[in-house]
This record gives sequence, structure tokens and C-alpha cells, in this order.
Amino acid sequence: MKTWMEQARELFPWTRELRRDFHMHPELGFQEERTAARVAQVLHDLGLEVHTGIAKTGVVAVLQGGRPGKRVLLRADMDALPIQEANDVPYASRHPGVMHACGHDGHMAVALTVARMVTESREHLPGTYIFLFQPAEEGLGGAARMIEEGVLERFPADVALALHLWNGAPVGWIGLGEGPVMAAADEVTLRLQGHGGHGAMPHLARDPITAAGHLIVALQSLIAREVDPLDTAVLSIGQVQGGSAFNVIPEEVLLKGTLRTFKTQTRTYVKQRVEALARHLASAFQVQAETRWVEATPAVVNDPHVTKQVRQALQEVWPEAHIDTDARTMGSEDMAFFLERVPGCYFFVGSANPQKGLDAPHHHPRFDFDEEVLPRAAALMAAAATRVAGHVE
Ligand SMILES: [Zn+2]
Ligand SMILES: [Zn+2]
Repeated sequence: MKTWMEQARELFPWTRELRRDFHMHPELGFQEERTAARVAQVLHDLGLEVHTGIAKTGVVAVLQGGRPGKRVLLRADMDALPIQEANDVPYASRHPGVMHACGHDGHMAVALTVARMVTESREHLPGTYIFLFQPAEEGLGGAARMIEEGVLERFPADVALALHLWNGAPVGWIGLGEGPVMAAADEVTLRLQGHGGHGAMPHLARDPITAAGHLIVALQSLIAREVDPLDTAVLSIGQVQGGSAFNVIPEEVLLKGTLRTFKTQTRTYVKQRVEALARHLASAFQVQAETRWVEATPAVVNDPHVTKQVRQALQEVWPEAHIDTDARTMGSEDMAFFLERVPGCYFFVGSANPQKGLDAPHHHPRFDFDEEVLPRAAALMAAAATRVAGHVE
């Protein structure tokens, strides 16, 4: 039998055609109609049992291996971003203002290549493979909606796997950490309510702008002084809204920001302290504070046992690659919702190539990756999936 890497290399032209087709026709979250239709068609042509319309545009296909084993869920995300592509390539986006600037086009092409390779060797393989194509990863809650619609009850899994192409590192680098590898994300809104008035007579008003200035600085002190330096948290205020004229003290100021943490304990603690700090600081300035949180995603947490099996499989299939076991980022990913319910592993596959000028960061209008990574990523995922499927305790 050919190795996964040999098979994936043979399929490279097919994989690349899929990736370029997805790249040329990007669609935003929950609008992946054409994308989902192409995904479903490929899976159907492979002879798989295909289910569509899950969480609007989600697609699931199931493949039974010839031998008993675990049920492995392989997840790929399908959505693009509201960005105007600045790359001058033949496969550039044909949809104005929409672009695959995160690599999800590559994720789909890789997952379909894995589906094809696994299908071709099905009788020799252990386990069951659930290929899950998820809509709306970029902040719109596609994973959570698939779970709410019962995808894990309809297609129960013992292990869940996913990868992300990663332009922060060159082809040949793999980021595979145990435990939390991406952060929990919470959105905070702080409303400071004062009393408006004339800019020349601040003593007759209660100025929420001055209070907001102090609060922004105090929030950074909270992170620096109250979070264990060996743990980590980041709180960035990204929006400040208030005021309508240079000489008017406004009634209120709104601050909006994002909190990222790895540990549940730290997450709960910082949220409580932000709320308390805002309340007390507002009171010191004789204004009122109201704090609201929206929970976006939990942390992406890799199961240590599954991660160990995945690491062995990756080393075997691509021995020259460098595996970075400390790879972690404060970015967030809604694969976290699957990994909260199913033990599994999420890993990063370096996809940049600075010599070819392919190293713009994710979500950049010039984002593009080295397509040479596609067969390698497919071989890695096929090796990982079949390894965990056949793993006996
Ligand atoms: Zn992204
Ligand atoms: Zn992404």
C-alpha cells in the first residue's frame, strides 16, 4: 500500500483545483450555498452517505471502514471573510468584498482529499469517519449551531480532529500542543453613565470621559497585577464611543473589548474583577458603570491521550517536519465547542513561504499560502484520523 504522503501527492492537482475553486467563489458565514453544494457533490461522487442543510449550510458525510474501531469526526470550516482580495492571481476571488483570507478554502480541499484517500482504502481501515463541513467559523457561531441542531447525536463521535493552515510559520512546521491551545473569547461592553454639561463648567457635570480614561488604564493594571504571570490573559479595548462636540461633556461613554484566557478559573476571576473595578472606579468618579459580557467561545483544549496518538502519526507520516509542542495562541476558534463535548485534537500546519512572498497574515487582503502544504496537510490528517480510529486502550 502506498503511504498517505504518496497518495496525497498523486492527488495534488485534484486538491489544488478544489482549493482554487473555493477560493474563487468565497461565501460569508451561513451563506456557503455554492461551497456546500460543491463539497456535497464531491462527497457524493466518492460514494459516501451525505447529509446537507445542517445549521443551514453544513454538510456531513459518513464512511464506514472495513474493520472495527473508533468513530472519528474530522471537521473543516467553510466560510470566507468580508475582505476585498488584493492578490493578483488567476484564482483570486470573483466575489467583490469577500475573500478566503483565513485558509478555510484549503481546509475544505484537505478534508475532501482525506475523504477520497480514506474511501479508496476503506476495506483495510478501522473505524468510522465523519466528515463534517461547518459553516460560519468567523464569529457567527457555526459550530454551536450545528451542535444545537443535534449533529453530535445524529453522528456520535469518539474523537474529534481538525487542523488550521498557519501562515505564522513556514511549510514544515507543525504546532501540536496538549491542553489549551487557543483561548476562550469573551466580549465585554462597559457603559459609563454620567451627567452631561458644558465643557467649561465640569463641576456642574459628571464626566464619563475622564472616568473612561482612568478605567482603560486600570483594566490593564488588573491584567498585569492580578493574573499569574505564568498563566495568561489579555484584555484589549477596541472601541471607545462617546461625545458629540469638543465643548460638551457627554452623558455616557461606551467601551467595548475582548478578553482572552486559557483557564476557566482565570476567565471567571477576571470577569468578576473587571465588573468590580468598573463599578468602584465609576463610583469614585461619581458616575455609574454597567458591565455586560457576551461569551463567544470556550478555549480549544486538546486531550493529552489523543494528542499523543496524533503526534506519533504525524511524526511517522512526515518525519522531516518540526513539531512544536508549545504552539499556543490567544486567538479563538469555535472548534472549541466540539472539543468541549468530544475529546480530540486541533493542530496547526505551517503554510507560509516567504521566498515565494506567501507570508501575509491571516485576515489580510494579501493572505495566501503555499499550496505545496495541501498534500502534506492531507497526509497528516489521514494518518492522524486512521491512527486514532484504530487505537485500542
Ligand atoms: Zn479566521
Ligand atoms: Zn480560520
